[in-house]
Amino acid sequence: MSNTNDVKLAAIHRYDLGVIICKSCNEVIATLPTNGYKKFYSLCCSITCIEKNKEENKR
Ligand SMILES: [Zn+2]
Repeated sequence: MSNTNDVKLAAIHRYDLGVIICKSCNEVIATLPTNGYKKFYSLCCSITCIEKNKEENKR
């Protein structure tokens, strides 16, 4: 019996389930090691998104 399958499962289990998504362009900025799938909204470093966010805050 080989333990290859167990190693693979452990690797999958270590994936980051939390994702940080840009609220402007929906681009995945980063991932976080969280318990379960979680979505966080932030802004990426794109000038377009930063400018768009500034304008939204003015209103
Ligand atoms: Zn963006």
